Amino acid sequence: MEFTDKLNRITLSFPDEREIQYREHYFIQSYNTTRVAYLILAVLYAFFGYLDSVVAKDFFEIFITIRIVVVVILLSVFLLSYSKNFRNYWQSLIFISFFIGAVGIIIMLIMMPDNVMYSSGLILVFLAGFVLIKLRFFAVSIASWVVIIIYIVAALAWKIEINIALSNSFFFIGANLIGMLAAYRTEIYNRQNFNLYQQIAKKNEQIEQANKNLEGKVEERTRLLNFRNKELRDEVKRRAEVEKELIAAKEKAEQSDKLKSAFLANMSHEIRTPMNGILGFASILREAENEEEFNEFIDAIINSGEHLLNLINDIIDLSKIEAGILQIEKSKFELNRLTKEIYEMFSIDSNVVSKKIEFSYTDGLPNDDCMIYTDRMRLKQIMINVVNNACKYTDHGSIEFYYAIKNGSLEFTVKDTGIGIHDDLKESIFNRFMQVSLSRTAGRNSTGLGLAITKTYLNLMGGNISVKSQLGVGSEFTFELPDIFNFEN
Ligand code: ADP
Repeated sequence: MEFTDKLNRITLSFPDEREIQYREHYFIQSYNTTRVAYLILAVLYAFFGYLDSVVAKDFFEIFITIRIVVVVILLSVFLLSYSKNFRNYWQSLIFISFFIGAVGIIIMLIMMPDNVMYSSGLILVFLAGFVLIKLRFFAVSIASWVVIIIYIVAALAWKIEINIALSNSFFFIGANLIGMLAAYRTEIYNRQNFNLYQQIAKKNEQIEQANKNLEGKVEERTRLLNFRNKELRDEVKRRAEVEKELIAAKEKAEQSDKLKSAFLANMSHEIRTPMNGILGFASILREAENEEEFNEFIDAIINSGEHLLNLINDIIDLSKIEAGILQIEKSKFELNRLTKEIYEMFSIDSNVVSKKIEFSYTDGLPNDDCMIYTDRMRLKQIMINVVNNACKYTDHGSIEFYYAIKNGSLEFTVKDTGIGIHDDLKESIFNRFMQVSLSRTAGRNSTGLGLAITKTYLNLMGGNISVKSQLGVGSEFTFELPDIFNFEN
């Protein structure tokens, strides 16, 4: 659709709210020009008074009065253009002042009908109306036609010579038509420009909005990408860690497999030794030469049997641990009774007796207030393992054990003046299936299982074990068992 199709063909107004915007825009664009135009017109209107004094001496007073009235009106409009509400009535004011200016000239023309100066003056008024004072096309057209009609009516009323009236009217109509055409084109261009300007502004706004949206989206995407990036980096890190863990687990599994094989081989050997002892002594039992020798053989058989039993017990415990079926059974008991049992058990231990080791112990709690709550059997087993090691690995000197209570935990220490442990081995002695080199343990009934089992028991009960030792000087094993006074569960 053509732009002009949307305009009213006669008034040239827009059919919608654009009309209000256009008028506002037209006012803003015009009011400086209009002000200047009014000043110029007032000056011209006054200035032509000089010609009156030359060509219309008889009517000078009337003419000058008319001129003064018109100039005052023109100047008033000029002054009013500075008022706040001028934009509300500026077209009406211009319309009226145009009339008054034109009627003033018409009066002069009627009074001096054959003087071309006044008909030219009216054409100047038309000219001013169409191009200078910024009346809109429709208003200026109406105003100028009304002015022509007034002239024709006045000419007829005052019986002006027909030739003069006719030729004047022709000129006025001609000037009016040309003016209208020019004003029509001008206003259409003006409105077209306005329309384009508005469309551009709207498009600009849309582009700006789209830009903003785009920026928002880019920002959002960037954020998302950064987030994804971080996630990916975390994932890569996590995978690297998992991979590391897997490798470690694989290595551990391989090592554990190797250790198990080594352990099995070792255990077969360990079992075979006491078995051979039992079978060997049993087979020569009949050949014993006297009762003393007979008893010696029986003792050897019992020793080997006990050793075998211990070994089998250890292996059973270990396999229970491996299978995860080991259970902790807590009960209430007197700790000092247990330490006494341990003491009594080891004070007659063959190692202690034969090596004349000074063996002693100290309780950390009074006998009448030493009730604790934990797995008695396991605790006893732990104590036996640690004290038994001290007896096995001490050739002379002393062994003492004692305990203290710290923050509701039992801290049990066994101190010996034995062979000590090399720094490199302090960690591995607690490992399952790990047996310290045979050269150190030879002849000491060693299986390499006791501490591993001890540590696992302690861990199961929330405790731990550590060792301080110096090679050739002695060792100090300390284990900690927490929560021993919690009788409620
Ligand atoms: P086993 O004594 O049957 O070999 P353990 O697991 O009880 O098995 O001990 C592991 C190793 O730790 C022993 O072989 C020994 O070398 C060392 N060890 C344990 N207790 C002591 C101690 N009190 N003094 C010196 N070495 C010890």
